[in-house]
Amino acid sequence: MFNIAIDGPSGAGKSSAAKGAAKELGFIYVDTGAMYRAVGVAALRRNIDTKDIPNVTAMLGEIEISLAFEDGEQKVYLNKEDVSKEIRLPEASMAASDVSAIPAVRAFLFDLQKSLARNNDCIMDGRDIGTVVLPDAKLKLFLTASAEERANRRYKELIDRGTPVDYKTLLDEIVQRDYNDSHRAIAPLKPADDAVVIDSTEMSLNEVIDFIVKLVRENEDE
Ligand code: C5P
Repeated sequence: MFNIAIDGPSGAGKSSAAKGAAKELGFIYVDTGAMYRAVGVAALRRNIDTKDIPNVTAMLGEIEISLAFEDGEQKVYLNKEDVSKEIRLPEASMAASDVSAIPAVRAFLFDLQKSLARNNDCIMDGRDIGTVVLPDAKLKLFLTASAEERANRRYKELIDRGTPVDYKTLLDEIVQRDYNDSHRAIAPLKPADDAVVIDSTEMSLNEVIDFIVKLVRENEDE
C-alpha cells in the first residue's frame, strides 16, 4: 500500500490539501483529528472533564469509533451515530486537544489508524502520523503556515459560512492549541526527520495539492 503521512499544526490546510491530493491520486483520505474530536465529543456529552485522565480512560471502554467513506467524504461514527457535524463545533476542538494528551486515548485510536493504512492506499493527516503512527510511510509531509495566516484562513471560512467570529479569539485559540500539541509529553507535534516541510503561508491550496501529487508521482517511479 502507498501511505502518505501529513502532519502539521491546526489550520495549516492539511485536510483540504490531503483531500484534494487523495482525490487526484485515487487514495482514501483519513483525518485522524476527527477521531480525537469524536473522543472529545464523547467526553463532553457525558460531562466528563476532558483533562480528567482516569475518567476519560474509563470512558474508552464504552465507546466505539469508526469511519466510513461516502463519495470520498469521511464520516465519523461514535457508537454507530454519525457525529461528523458535531465534531466541528469549537468546543470539540479544545476537547480533542485535551484528550489527545492522554496516552490511553492515543493507544485506543492507534490500531484503527494502523489498520486503515494497512488496507488502503491512503493519505493520513494528523500530528504524529509520520513520527509515530506510520513511521514507514512512503512519503512524509509536514505542512505549516504562520499562525496569523492560519487564523486568517479560518476567519474567512467561518465568515463565509455565516458564523460571526472574532479574529483575535481565533488567533489565540490557534496559538494555544499549537502550544498544547507541541509541548505534550506524548507524541508531540514535530516534523519527522525525513519529512518534506511545506510552508503554505504564501501558497494557494492548488499549489500545495500540485506539489504533493508531484512528489507522490516521483516516489511512485522509484
Ligand atoms: O486536526 P484537528 O484540528 O481536527 O485535530 C484536533 C486535535 O486532535 C488537535 O488539536 C490535536 O490535539 C489532536 N490530534 C492529535 N494527533 C493527531 C490528530 C489530532 O493529537 N494525529
